[in-house]
Amino acid sequence: MQNTQNKPFQTFLERTGQRIPLTLFNQFVAVAKMFSRLKLEVRAEFYFNHDTGKFNLYFPQQRVHRYWVENDEPDGTFVNYMLDKNDQFCELVCEIHAHHEMAPFPSSTDNASERLPGMSYVIVGHLLKDIPAVTARTFLPTEMHTDLEFSDIFYADKGYVTHDYDQLPSIKAKWFEIVR
Ligand SMILES: [Zn+2]
Repeated sequence: MQNTQNKPFQTFLERTGQRIPLTLFNQFVAVAKMFSRLKLEVRAEFYFNHDTGKFNLYFPQQRVHRYWVENDEPDGTFVNYMLDKNDQFCELVCEIHAHHEMAPFPSSTDNASERLPGMSYVIVGHLLKDIPAVTARTFLPTEMHTDLEFSDIFYADKGYVTHDYDQLPSIKAKWFEIVR
């Protein structure tokens, strides 16, 4: 059998050979650690900027809860903002959310919502430990999830420091509504 037939479907990252810098992953983890102390989930999105060739980490306005998190703004808000403000085209390529101190196993809610073929989905758990645990997967047109390797999505960029989770991205408290 031809090798290509083993991989009939690819994510945006696999198709383009692009990887997201670990510095951005660490910035998400830094925020997720803060929310984990409050036992709250949190989510973010990675965009590929086709005009700069770089990735953006974006925290949408969101409602955060102990067992779920959901956007509180329309889909495409960041894409429209970057087009209007900077005349740059950004494409959503990876969604990431955190399960605070719990394991990064996908919940039934996750399985129901993470169903866009080609999207990379990452869940981070055990966030109060030194090294968090990660689940990575995508969704196939055949209606199944399939696991990805962490290294299918992220790479160690220049300037990245192992397990340095102190570099906070710029975030504003008003973006997060806590639901108890
Ligand atoms: Zn989840």
